[in-house]
Amino acid sequence: MTKLRLIMTTTNQQVNIEKLASLCKRRGFIFQSSELYGGINGFWDYGPLGVELKRNIKDAWWQDVVQRRDDVVGLDSSIIMHPRIWEASGHLEGFSDPMVDCKTCKGRFRADQLDTSTCPQKPSKKVGECGGELTEPREFNLMFQTFVGPVRDDSSVAYLRPETAQGIFAQFDNVLSVSRQKVPFGIAQIGKAFRNEINPRNYIFRSREFEQMELEFFIKPGTDKEWHEQWVKERMDWYTRIGIAAENLSQYVYGDDELAHYASACVDIMYAFPFGVQELEGVAARGNFDLSRHSEFSGKKLEYFDPETNERFIPHVVEPSAGVDRIALAVLCEAYRIEWVPKEGSGGTLRLAEPDTKPPEGYEERTVLRFAPRVAPIKAAIFPLLKNRPELVEVAQRLYTDLKQTWPVFYDQTGAIGRRYRRQDEAGTPFGITVDFQTLEDQTVTWRDRDTMTQERVSLDEVAALLGDALK
Ligand code: ATP
Repeated sequence: MTKLRLIMTTTNQQVNIEKLASLCKRRGFIFQSSELYGGINGFWDYGPLGVELKRNIKDAWWQDVVQRRDDVVGLDSSIIMHPRIWEASGHLEGFSDPMVDCKTCKGRFRADQLDTSTCPQKPSKKVGECGGELTEPREFNLMFQTFVGPVRDDSSVAYLRPETAQGIFAQFDNVLSVSRQKVPFGIAQIGKAFRNEINPRNYIFRSREFEQMELEFFIKPGTDKEWHEQWVKERMDWYTRIGIAAENLSQYVYGDDELAHYASACVDIMYAFPFGVQELEGVAARGNFDLSRHSEFSGKKLEYFDPETNERFIPHVVEPSAGVDRIALAVLCEAYRIEWVPKEGSGGTLRLAEPDTKPPEGYEERTVLRFAPRVAPIKAAIFPLLKNRPELVEVAQRLYTDLKQTWPVFYDQTGAIGRRYRRQDEAGTPFGITVDFQTLEDQTVTWRDRDTMTQERVSLDEVAALLGDALK
């Protein structure tokens, strides 16, 4: 939760988050939840392209953290669990942020974020500098409460999980007994988490309902340092594999005075968002705190018997814990570009647009999302050059039907071909494939690359293999 020390590195200033949000709405990536009724603060919906983007991020995590390893298995635990779990984990007692109220405007703010919070009544001023009188900070618990069953009393209180991790600890014994895993091994889970954040903000960065991808990697006591280092490295590398530039990533290493009493190390993986360098994921070495607490509160032993040494011990754990929505926002910021494209025959070169400036003579502007092919919502778009020529439409539709058996691809026959390319640039589709008159003569199509905008002719038979290679 609260960060005690701030780090400064360069931020991704190029991206105007309002413009990005407007593109995301216009193209169907992200909508405000309940917009029809005026919206609800801290909740977001993902539209047709957004849901694919998020799914690709989750798939990339699952493939690299679970499927391609032999030492990690998956779990899907329930969102509402026995309330004792949150007593044992310490969330009921301590999962809170310091909150202050403004006596003037009645606004509520996180006491540790006042320097970056604006006054709702005087948006040019920061909270506290606007003349409003603030209360002393008090702790506000972030857990959402609900009731289970028809009776609403103290005995039916339950909570929406504020993290997915505790579901893993609570099922440690069952998973261990069925999975034939030996320590060191991990249990991974992707799912929704809920936090009643005091001030949801920065678009989808801090919301009240979000998704987490968490791994609890159980290890032998004493091997904490090496496994922690290994997971920090593995997770840093993963971000570059989904298209985040290494120079926009950094690490925040917790000092001894900032670590929880049970933790031996913690590193936050940070991304240079346009609104500052902020956390994407935390990687913590948490000792045996969680299993010990659940053992104490449930009265059941949660131990591991090591058949090689005949020892019994409570495993320690290294926990990489990432947020899907924050990663989706980082991927969008990383991909978003406004570019100046040279008109045909002008001899110019493709370049980044200067902010809020019209393109110079001989250039036109395009907005493009340069997603890595692995996370792009649509992998390729298929176009017949003209919609009123059945011989072109037939070949294009056949190719489309073929490719969509394997990948999410898109068919579009309306409008000038240049406009169709631009629409796909905005959706982040890496490749455009056009069936034209030459196709009828020599069975080749135009293969257009989104980033370089170059076009080459490739054989119709090769298209599936080329796409497969590009998406590896
Ligand atoms: P912060 O300090 O930003 O509140 P945190 O340190 O409390 O985050 P963790 O409890 O470590 O976060 O949760 C793991 C991950 O879950 C975070 O790195 C982040 O990606 C994601 N996450 C946490 N809170 C939110 C939120 N309110 N909205 C979106 N994602 C979140």
